[in-house]
Amino acid sequence: MKDFQPDDLQLLSAYGAFIDNEYKPVGGQTFAATSASTGETLANVARCSGQEIDDAVQSAKRAFPDWKAKTPEERAACLYKFADLVEGQIQRFKVIDALDVGRGVWETELDHVLAVQQYRYFAAAAKTHEGWGRSIPNGYLIAKREPYGVCGQIIPWNVPGIMASFKIAPAVAAGNTVVLKPDENACLSTMELGKLIAECFPPGVVNIVPGLGEEAGAALTSHPDVAKIAFTGSPEVGRIVSAAGANRLVPVSLELGGKSPNIVFPDVGTDDIDKIVDNVTFGSMFCNGQSCIAGTRLFVHDGIYDDFMGRLKASMERIKVAAPTNPFPLLSCLVSEKQGQRVQSYIDIGKAEGGLVTGGERVSVEGCDAGWFFEPTVFETTNDSRIAQEEIFGPVLSVIRWKDYDKLLADANGVKYGLAAGIYTSNLKNAWETADRLQAGNVWVNSYLNLAPGSPFGGYKESGIGSEFCHETLNMYTHAKAITIQTEINPAWYAPSA
Ligand code: NAD
Repeated sequence: MKDFQPDDLQLLSAYGAFIDNEYKPVGGQTFAATSASTGETLANVARCSGQEIDDAVQSAKRAFPDWKAKTPEERAACLYKFADLVEGQIQRFKVIDALDVGRGVWETELDHVLAVQQYRYFAAAAKTHEGWGRSIPNGYLIAKREPYGVCGQIIPWNVPGIMASFKIAPAVAAGNTVVLKPDENACLSTMELGKLIAECFPPGVVNIVPGLGEEAGAALTSHPDVAKIAFTGSPEVGRIVSAAGANRLVPVSLELGGKSPNIVFPDVGTDDIDKIVDNVTFGSMFCNGQSCIAGTRLFVHDGIYDDFMGRLKASMERIKVAAPTNPFPLLSCLVSEKQGQRVQSYIDIGKAEGGLVTGGERVSVEGCDAGWFFEPTVFETTNDSRIAQEEIFGPVLSVIRWKDYDKLLADANGVKYGLAAGIYTSNLKNAWETADRLQAGNVWVNSYLNLAPGSPFGGYKESGIGSEFCHETLNMYTHAKAITIQTEINPAWYAPSA
């Protein structure tokens, strides 16, 4: 990499919790944030427990009344400034994430570009999130939106820049204050945001508490002063977080896993097949397959199957597997040994079931001895197999041949998830009817991962509850309150008799 070297990361040697706009000293236990590819320790991070969580929540609670009282324009100004500062650090953040998560720098750069868009989107949205009103007999009804207060937010490791922005931007735009817990597998770029938060927001508006899920995460979701919980991660932990919210009767929004179908109709033009193969390759392998929206189940029509599969195999075999700091790899390493073992076990299951088309082997990359790199791996299978039903979270694609449209739809919807879906067709009727019948929060026709700020992002079924990334997200972070005003006081039911 010419433009940035890992030594220039300007990381702190140790990160304490970020509370009241400063990093607290690292007093108790820590964990090492390590490079996914080399195993090198990048920094030590505080393993926050109940005390730090309480300090952060109290800080957010103190900051809430003043932050809530600010005008939307004032809140937007802070978010715009923050977006500018994050934008100025993208070259640094992309390398931090490439080392911490193991993904290629060309991808992690895009994460932070999207994060900046997200901060700007919600700066603008804050100014248009108004209430509504109407006349009633002898008076007027005013309905307004009010922030909840302290939001406890928990994010996963796969796209830290995007995840932090999805949580912080709408919550503070709506007038809430935040305690955010990043993932223990990759938290450094989120911890680094503290330096910029201190320049943009009043103390306490955004606090960051690193730590383990069952310690810091559990302490946050069960804290009595947390008024709203937002979680992104696995369905298993989503259930635990939901139960913690249910115990205290606070609203919980969830963004969970996926096993998204990507459907190719036989009417696609022969000239388009290479482009579709490219979309399918990208849709399953970006983020090294560690994405909730990866198109991991590919349905190809029988009529074009053999031609398509030949080109798909060639496309997968063209992918370069390389170190995260290489400027142009498509595939790099998985986040951890645990994730590597998980992916290996699914590849073993797929191999035992038969149907391996390409890949299936672990790859060693020079200078990256600790990294879990895999070849892009494709299996032919059926929708009821384990590799087609379960979220692998690695570079593994399951391909299913289809003939009958109703069976296709039943299979495409035949998983517990419902996050995203892709359709490739030249027929508007196919596109519309299929998009309408798919159980998925995002359906992309003729281009996978077509996300623009403002499009609702959320899941059906076990993929989650609520929508992020859009104007409606501000409703998820606010109460609706009705106030009626009468011009005169009327007697009610028990009026004194005349
Ligand atoms: P995970 O559920 O194991 O961890 C996510 C977060 O939850 C981490 O910060 C972790 O520390 C915390 N956590 C763990 N146990 C906890 C507990 N008992 N109480 C509170 N917090 C706890 O998920 P992961 O392995 O880090 O991420 C992968 C999962 O995330 C996949 O299922 C993926 O599909 C999903 N994901 C979803 C989206 C989306 O937007 N829908 C985006 C990215 C990832």
